[in-house]
Amino acid sequence: MINIIERLAPRKLALEWDNVGLMVGDYSAKVDRILVALTVTPGVMNYAIEHKMDMIISHHPFLFKPLKSIKRDLPSGRMIYDAVKHDIVIYSAHTNLDVASGGVNDLLAGCLDLEGVEVLEPTREEPLKKIVVFVPRGYEDAVRDAMGDAGAGHIGNYSHCTFNVAGIGTFRPLEKARPFIGEAGRLERVEEVRIETIAPESLVKKIVSAMLKAHPYEEVAYDLYPVENKGGVFGLGRIGYLKSPLTLKDLCENIKQKLGVNSLRVVGDLTKKVSKVAVCGGAGGNLVSKAAFLGADVYITGDVKYHEAEEARITGMALIDAGHYSTEKLILNFIADHLKKELSALGEDVCVEVYDEGEPFAIV
Ligand SMILES: [Zn+2]
Repeated sequence: MINIIERLAPRKLALEWDNVGLMVGDYSAKVDRILVALTVTPGVMNYAIEHKMDMIISHHPFLFKPLKSIKRDLPSGRMIYDAVKHDIVIYSAHTNLDVASGGVNDLLAGCLDLEGVEVLEPTREEPLKKIVVFVPRGYEDAVRDAMGDAGAGHIGNYSHCTFNVAGIGTFRPLEKARPFIGEAGRLERVEEVRIETIAPESLVKKIVSAMLKAHPYEEVAYDLYPVENKGGVFGLGRIGYLKSPLTLKDLCENIKQKLGVNSLRVVGDLTKKVSKVAVCGGAGGNLVSKAAFLGADVYITGDVKYHEAEEARITGMALIDAGHYSTEKLILNFIADHLKKELSALGEDVCVEVYDEGEPFAIV
């Protein structure tokens, strides 16, 4: 279960100050009933107990500040007691889920149909590795395909990129060897092809194992090199373009409808046309100047403070505060659907439910 979540939102994508991953329980716990929530609150915990859930997956970290005590008469301590007593695993995916491809920010950009979407604030560039393998003639296609199918050689809009050069490989099988070519004690000279390709660090294990499977040799000669080139860019927020420019007022109406909110807080001239849009789910006020610097006409986020709104006004960029909850809630059904799809592909019969506590604020 946790592997499925961590493939979607790898822990290494979390920001340094964050606390993500398994909060309560153990990795090997058997899980049949899962509850997905934005925050673990007493309401979420009571529902989980009542409905015999084995696991709660939350977006906001269940444990964040180091604990100095666990007091049962306080809500936070009570929830820890309840989780342990009722054997409920708690797992949180926070900034790693914001940053992840397909995560909170991509969902928000997708919900507004943004095009040409890029990361607003890069937080990590994936390191790349060069993989070189020596393959006897006749087997180069099989090995190359296996590596490419496992994700090697992906450059821009191209996959399976490799460079191949022919040469002579030499080896002498020792006494206990079971050589594919040659015999023990005799130096062999074999026509081989050096295949080189590049891959994101996170895929190297998978690619090497696919390569070893397709390679005919007992002992395969291959090298892994670190390279200075950087791979995919991950980060907070997204920036892109509306399909066609809208007035700020029309964009507000659009957002209200798509995010299901009745009101928004807006900075800027409502009659002004906007096209380049930056978004950041949750509390994204700290990226106002970044969005303005990248030329956004409008920045949509939640939890904006007075000075951040003022900063937007000074730069001339429009700003929409659609609320922390409303800019993040899309992730709830997304996580649930993702888990259901992955689990059913594995033939697992697991119940996944969403507990949506709704917006805590009311407008009066
Ligand atoms: Zn949040």
